[in-house]
Amino acid sequence: MPELPDLEYIAEYLQGTVAHRTIISAEIHKPVILRLAVAGSLQDAVAGKRIEGVKIHGPFLTMRMTDKLDLVVNLMVAGKIQHQRPGERPQGHRCLSLSLDDKTILNVCDPELMAKVYLVPSGEYGVIPKYQSQGTAITGKEFTLDRFLELASLHSRKQVRVFINDHTIMSSIGNAYADEILFEAGIHPKTFVARLSGEDRSRLYEAIHSVMEWGKTEVKKARKPIHEKVRDHMRVRNRRGEPCPRCGTKIRREGVRGHDVFFCPQCQPASRRLFVDWSKVGRPKE
Ligand SMILES: [Zn+2]
Repeated sequence: MPELPDLEYIAEYLQGTVAHRTIISAEIHKPVILRLAVAGSLQDAVAGKRIEGVKIHGPFLTMRMTDKLDLVVNLMVAGKIQHQRPGERPQGHRCLSLSLDDKTILNVCDPELMAKVYLVPSGEYGVIPKYQSQGTAITGKEFTLDRFLELASLHSRKQVRVFINDHTIMSSIGNAYADEILFEAGIHPKTFVARLSGEDRSRLYEAIHSVMEWGKTEVKKARKPIHEKVRDHMRVRNRRGEPCPRCGTKIRREGVRGHDVFFCPQCQPASRRLFVDWSKVGRPKE
């Protein structure tokens, strides 16, 4: 699943290549991914329109077009966007293709057919599930330490991994970067937010910024085509059994609310504050 650093890279790339290009035609290979909130067919609606700009909002990537139309893409788990240049082969599992006036093609591909492409009148995002329920944008000015501390106290009963991964609270941190953030902050993924000290919370807030920035730099540095997922820089994610880059301890995998999480048991110790130590709790008097 593309995460924020991936989407930022994709959006920057598209802004630099297809923005200001005109759509010649649209071809739908898998209608199941398409949601039209305008009259007529996709072809009728977008042919002849110019792409004016690209922006992201949580997991959504929006291409603004002339005549007040927005094409909003949610790539979900396995979806990707390919910018196919003349002479290149299309990626497999194409669901939708937009041919542009520079003879390049934008393909939305998804083997799982879970991706969604919405065509809506500009700004009318209410029809798009989860668009308006995104929490505080972590890249926005409003994501201050005070705001973060406020969110942490509102959600103190959650495990920290669930807290930072919940897009309705913070928008948005996916599974891979959630693991990397907790590794950076040295916090065990199952720690309850209520158990985090003030210092832990500040460190976690800093880690959200530094890890997402690091992710963006690494993805950019890799200079891969936008349909390729860049994960080589990950330090704990999907590295079960490999040595921790800091201390050499084997990376562990555990489940948190049905999600696999990866962490270093040495650098991210499960403090005793995490669990109730029943051996030290006195029996109630009978
Ligand atoms: Zn370690």
